[in-house]
Amino acid sequence: MLDTAIAKVPESPELVVAVETITCLPDAVQVLTSCTTGNGRMKVYDWGKFALTAYNRETMKGVRTWVIADVVPKWPLINDWFNPAQRIGESPLFEDLVEAFFEARSELIGVREVRIVSPDNVFPRKKTGICEKCGESYNLKCGPICSACQGQAYYTLEGGA
Ligand SMILES: [Zn+2]
Repeated sequence: MLDTAIAKVPESPELVVAVETITCLPDAVQVLTSCTTGNGRMKVYDWGKFALTAYNRETMKGVRTWVIADVVPKWPLINDWFNPAQRIGESPLFEDLVEAFFEARSELIGVREVRIVSPDNVFPRKKTGICEKCGESYNLKCGPICSACQGQAYYTLEGGA
């Protein structure tokens, strides 16, 4: 899927990949492309869909690829891998699975050109400032004071403030 998308949206500093599941796919993107959560060029949706979109953040145009569900049952190894609960016997060998994916990919992978419309997928140059409450540096997009000082802290201070 990633190969298919990257073939159409070449690697560049403007490449962004949006993945639609939190399992497996984000790792593949981080290993095989320059897009990581750390550099803000991978967007992860917890939708449980085996699909991804590679796009250019300047043009906001890209390519979405996904696994065509109707085709999966035609490929027993792949079907087993997608439905581990239904599997009878041993899990398939990794090599056999990879081979099946390569053989199946032209019919298994859907491809469609898309345009990105969600403002969440735009990464403006980040503007930082100093929070007037805690004095720490933060991204100004979060508001007039930092997220923690707005009451969203995920921690509490040991021994009081
Ligand atoms: Zn603060």
